[in-house]
Parts: sequence; C-alpha cells; structure tokens
Amino acid sequence: MSRLLPILLAAAALGVSACSPAKQAAPESASAGSLNIYTARHYDADTLVYDGFTKATGIKVNRLEMQPDQLVERMKAEGEASPADVILMADAGALWRAESAGLFQPITTPTLEKRIPVALRDPKGLWWGFTRRARVIAYDKAAVKPEEVATYEALASPRFKGKVCVRSSDNVYNLSLMAALIEHWGEPKALAWAKGVVANMARPPQGGDIDQIRAVEAGACQVALTNTYYYLRLAASPDAADKAAAARVALSFPEQAGVGTHTNVSGGGLAAHAPNKAAAVKFLDYLASDEAQAIFAGANHEYPAVMGVPSPPDVAAISQFKADPMAVTVYGERQAQAQSLYDQAGWR
Ligand code: FE
Repeated sequence: MSRLLPILLAAAALGVSACSPAKQAAPESASAGSLNIYTARHYDADTLVYDGFTKATGIKVNRLEMQPDQLVERMKAEGEASPADVILMADAGALWRAESAGLFQPITTPTLEKRIPVALRDPKGLWWGFTRRARVIAYDKAAVKPEEVATYEALASPRFKGKVCVRSSDNVYNLSLMAALIEHWGEPKALAWAKGVVANMARPPQGGDIDQIRAVEAGACQVALTNTYYYLRLAASPDAADKAAAARVALSFPEQAGVGTHTNVSGGGLAAHAPNKAAAVKFLDYLASDEAQAIFAGANHEYPAVMGVPSPPDVAAISQFKADPMAVTVYGERQAQAQSLYDQAGWR
C-alpha cells in the first residue's frame, strides 16, 4: 500500500477522474457481473485501471497475474473451460505467442477502431495495443557522451568492451528488439551485433530492466538496454537511491539519424472462450478511454496509445523522438529467429 500511495497521488494530480466522487458513487451491484482478467503485465499501476473500470461500470474485476509463458500454458490446459475473459500482455512478442496458441477471438468496437492506431493492433482484431514504450540505451552521464550511444550498433563497438549490462536473451523485450534488427539488417549483421554485445558484457545477463539501470548507477557498467517507463519509475520514486540512479543515468533514443528508435506496445484482447464477453468488451473499450490512458501514462509512465491524450510532464519530456514505424507484428513473426541468433551468439 505504501508503494501505491504515491501512484494514487500522482493519478489524482493528473486529474484522473477514477478518483472523482461521482465515479466512486457508482453502484457495485452483483447484477453488474464480474470480469476475469489473465495478465502478464506486472505493474502496480494496473490496479488503478481495474478500480477505475469497476467504478465506471459496477463490474467486479478478478485478476490473475502470471508470466507470459505460464499464462499461455494455463489457458491451453484450461481449453474451452477457461474462465479468462480478457488477456493482457506486455510486448507485441508476447501478444503474438498468445495469438499463435489460439487464445484470442477477434473483436472490434467503434471505440477501438476510432482510438487505437492501426500500427498498434492486430489486423484481425485479435489484440489491441493500449500503451507504447521505447527500448532505449541508459548510459552513465559522467562516462559516456550521448553521441557514443546514438545507435544500437554502438553497444557492440569496442568502445564498450566490458561496459555493457543486459538482461537475458529470452526476455521478450530483447527478443522483439532483435526481431526488429533482423528485419532491418538481415541475419548476418544481426548475428554479428549480438556477438559484439556478448563480447562487451560486463557480467552475465541477469535481472530486469531496472536492475540494468541500477548497475549503471553503481558503476558495474556504462551502458544498458531498458524500456523507457522503468527509468521514469526510478526518477519518480520516493526512494533516494532510486532517484540517485536516475540522476546519474541518461537515456539515449537510438537511431534518430536512421530508422528511429525501437518501440513496442502492451495490449490485450478478448479470450477465445470468454464467459463474460459483454463485460470483456466494455473493459477493452475502457482501456482506450481517456481515463485509463491517463492512468497508464501517469502511474506507469508509459506512452498513451490513443492520440491526443495528454502525457504527464515526465513522459512528455521523453516523448519527442523519431520512432521506428515498423509494424509490431514483425516482432512475433521473427521471434524464433531472434532467439536462435541470440543462442548462436552465446547471449544467455
Ligand atoms: Fe515491463
């Protein structure tokens, strides 16, 4: 709860209407029904989204949080008897895994059609992107010049021998990045890049994105890959050590002179055998609402997927960059190839 409080305050400061008295007065009658969400998103902020939906509709949300592969295996085992109504995943590569396993059914609504950009959704309506994030280079401001980290290729250059921190190659964020690099460069160059990064690693891959940023702060390495919202989470943290890490580290948005920085989505869709389909559709529409979009941006520091939704100052401050326009569906299509190249390069 102590971790949630600042988030609630941040959401309130943003004018997120989930906290308005009118919405709180909405009845939570049993007849409004319930909704079962299987989610591989792992962010405290999502509780605010679920609460906002319940306040707006009276529909109670039951959430089951799992790792993406666990989620897929569980739903496959449950089959037609699965109680899941909505599936949420962080990363288009994870959405693709769920799609490939047949876990979604197509759905569309006027709200989703109008508000979610075409590049951020599945063409068949199996899943919809509700937030955006960029995969960027975090670097030690005291040791690295911004121009030294202007490309992803820089991570493989001799300049950073023994200076690179990364997480494991089976992490879906890294798989999606590699899928995009293969799409742009072809396999030989992508493999050479992965080998170069492995040769530059300061330590074996370990931890999550936040651990990479902290390692840069601690001097264990000079550069690391991270998704944008993790950096902003540290910067906004009430913890002095987190703030110090963010203060020592800066973000580079690679490829600004080229194809643009690798971006991704988090999103979800309607479960194939959803028992509460009407409630599920309402929830997907809610995720595209101004209110939910503002919570994602305000409390989890992600970029809104819906155009025109204002971002809080910290998100807005890193919003002006050239993003790679590549369709996010590529990340799934090339996922197996990406893992194979990482394996060949010895990136654990
Ligand atoms: Fe994440």
